[in-house]
Amino acid sequence: MNFVFAGPPGAGKGTQAGLFHARHGLPHICTGDMLRQAVRDATGLGKRASEYMRRGDLVPDALVDEIVRARLAEPDCGDGFILDGYPRTLEQARVLDASLASAGRRLDAAVLFTIRDDVLLTRLAGRRVCSRCGMTYHVEYRPPRAAGRCDVDGAPLAQRKDDDADTIRHRIGVFRELTGPMVEYYRADRRLLQANAERPIQQIYEEICGFIEAPEQRQHSRARVRPIGIRPAPAV
Ligand code: ADP
Ligand code: AMP
Repeated sequence: MNFVFAGPPGAGKGTQAGLFHARHGLPHICTGDMLRQAVRDATGLGKRASEYMRRGDLVPDALVDEIVRARLAEPDCGDGFILDGYPRTLEQARVLDASLASAGRRLDAAVLFTIRDDVLLTRLAGRRVCSRCGMTYHVEYRPPRAAGRCDVDGAPLAQRKDDDADTIRHRIGVFRELTGPMVEYYRADRRLLQANAERPIQQIYEEICGFIEAPEQRQHSRARVRPIGIRPAPAV
């Protein structure tokens, strides 16, 4: 199963990709996480990317294309992957297809998380992330058991620097402006699926499982995805 989770910041892509990783072992490849790690480590990539990220702009395609190409070549991606937040432009989508094709592989589908801007603002304002393992919470919708502490490792939760109100609005604008052509690319190619991302976490998870399990039940798309035997798991 080779999937892209696409959608605006705060739509819940990382939350869903994390569930698929935890329950089905699929690698969750999040370019935002990889870039933040590079910034923390002050690598060459991190130094080149940090100013774009601080402003909420996209990092140049070439930088992101290269880290994704290298990550997809790692052995754990051999049986499938979920890309979260990549591609984000038409050019990135084309590069991804070419890179997979050169390895004799293909993207099954892109799942577009659809959601209104006002819901995104509430989600991003309340998002908290574990400072050690990166697990994502929400102060209201997905609170940790102990306030301010990660359920997994007890480390303090923090707010992302780009989750302030002005940068959030800018990032949503960037998504609406640049990602449309990419969505049309997948739609034209019958590889676009759509999930209503305003519903509870478990419902969205089950819908995506349904896309994979029973392609004929999909109502929003006529993309073809091979069934892979994923079973819905217990409620979150
Ligand atoms: P993305 O990866 O698309 O930027 P996240 O997965 O980080 O989005 O989710 C953004 C915020 O919304 C987080 O605080 C997360 O806990 C919360 N969240 C995710 N999915 C849902 C949902 N279906 N309903 C309510 N809150 C959600
Ligand atoms: P995210 O964690 O997906 O919200 O991404 C955080 C930031 O990382 C974005 O605002 C961009 O600056 C950068 N970024 C992540 N993925 C990409 C991508 N595919 N293309 C360009 N920039 C990206």
